[in-house]
Amino acid sequence: MQFCWRAEYAPAIEVTLVLTVAEARAKILAAAKPLSRTETVSLLESNGRILAHDVVAAVNVPPCDNSAMDGYAVRAAGCTGGVSIPVVGIVYAGSMPGLLEAGTAQRIFTGAPVPHGADTVVIQEDVAADPERIVISAGVTVKPGENIRRAGEDIAIGDILFSAGHRLRAPDIGLLASIGIDKVYVTTPLRVGLLCTGDELLEPGELPQAGKIYNSNRYLLSALLRDLGCEVIDAGIVKDDLAATEEALQKLAAKVDVVISTGGVSVGDADYVKQAVHAQGKLDVWKIAVKPGKPLAFGRIKQTPFFGLPGNPVSAFVTFLLFVRPFLQTLQGSAVNDLRHVPAHAGFDWPRAGKREEYLRVQLQGEDGVFVARALPNQGSGVLSSVCHADALLQVPVGRIFMTGDSVECLLLE
Ligand code: AMP
Ligand code: MG
Repeated sequence: MQFCWRAEYAPAIEVTLVLTVAEARAKILAAAKPLSRTETVSLLESNGRILAHDVVAAVNVPPCDNSAMDGYAVRAAGCTGGVSIPVVGIVYAGSMPGLLEAGTAQRIFTGAPVPHGADTVVIQEDVAADPERIVISAGVTVKPGENIRRAGEDIAIGDILFSAGHRLRAPDIGLLASIGIDKVYVTTPLRVGLLCTGDELLEPGELPQAGKIYNSNRYLLSALLRDLGCEVIDAGIVKDDLAATEEALQKLAAKVDVVISTGGVSVGDADYVKQAVHAQGKLDVWKIAVKPGKPLAFGRIKQTPFFGLPGNPVSAFVTFLLFVRPFLQTLQGSAVNDLRHVPAHAGFDWPRAGKREEYLRVQLQGEDGVFVARALPNQGSGVLSSVCHADALLQVPVGRIFMTGDSVECLLLE
C-alpha cells in the first residue's frame, strides 16, 4: 500500500527534537512582524518609548554663537598683556547685544549671545577690571574663537537626530527638548499577557506554607517586560489543571499582543500548557540545546503569538533574554538589541565539552586591562541569586572547552 501523508497523521504537537540557539532564534524572529500602532505623547511622558518616525532638527543648537564663560567679548587682534580696553556694554544670557566696535569690550555672561564684531571672549580671571575698563593681565594671549560656543555646534538644522525605532532615554529626551520638541510620535506599548502555572506557587505577601514556593517568575518577567516598555497584562497564577489553563490562556490571548506563560511546558504529569495551547492554536515545543533553558514552547493561541517559558527562574530569565526579548523588540518596530558582548579571560577551567550552549553566570573583574570571568559557585537553573550576583553570562558554545586564561565571550547583564 502506498503511504499517503495526510494532515490528521501529523502528531498532535510538533516536537522538533533539538534546535541550536541560533536556529531557534531564527525561527522565532521569522515569525515576528512589527506592529504599527502609534500614538503621540508628551515629551515628559516619553522615557523608554520607541520613536515611530525620524526626528530631523528644524533649528540650530546653540541657536547663535554664545559665550562659554563669564568674561569680556573683544576682538582678539591687538589684545595682549597690559592692553587697556574700555567696557562699553553688557550682555546677559537671553538678551541681544549691540555691535562691538574695534578697540572696545562688552561684559558678557555664560550663555549670552556674542556681539557681532567680537571674535573671542576673554575670561574674567584674565583681566583686571573696573566698571569702565579692563586691562589684560600680563602673560595672557588672547586667541580668536576662544570661549565661544558656535551656532549649530551641537545640532545643525537638517541633522537626523534619531531614526524611527530608536528607544528614547533621558539624554535623548533632553536633546529633543533642546530643539523645541514638546510631543513625540511613538509606537503604542506592546500588551504582553503573563501567566504563571503551578500548584506550588504562593504570591509574595502570603504566609509561607509547607510544600509551596513563592512565585518569582511573575515579578522577574514583569520587570523585564516593563524594562522593554511593554504594558503587562498580568493573569496571576493558574493551577496545574487543563481546563483552567485553557480558559486562562484563551482569555489572556484575546486581550494582548503576545502571551507568555511560565512552567508546565516539560513532560511532567502536571504540565498542561502544551495541551492547552494546542487545543486553541498551534504549538511547537522545542528542545533547544541551551543550558539553562530547555524546554521552550513557541506558537500561537488563535492568532496571538505565545511563548511557554520554563518554570525554573534562571531558565525563564535566560530564555526571555535570548528568545522573547528580540521577538518583542521586533514587534515594537525597534532593532534587535541583544546584551552587549564583552571579551574576557576565563578565570577557571572548563574541561568537558557540552552538547548544549551554556550560559554561565559570572562575575567580571578587571585585571591588567582585561576582564577576568569567574563563575558563581551554584549554576543551578533554580538559583536566581546567582543571576543577581552576576555581572554577565559567559557564553560557552557547544563542544567548547577552555582553560584558565583562555579568551571567552560574555554578555553583559546591565
Ligand atoms: P515546571 O516547568 O512547571 O515543571 O517547573 C520547573 C521548576 O520551576 C519547579 O521547581 C517549579 O516549582 C519552579 N517554578 C515554576 N514556576 C515558578 C515560578 N513562577 N516561580 C518560581 N519557581 C517556579
Ligand atoms: Mg509546574
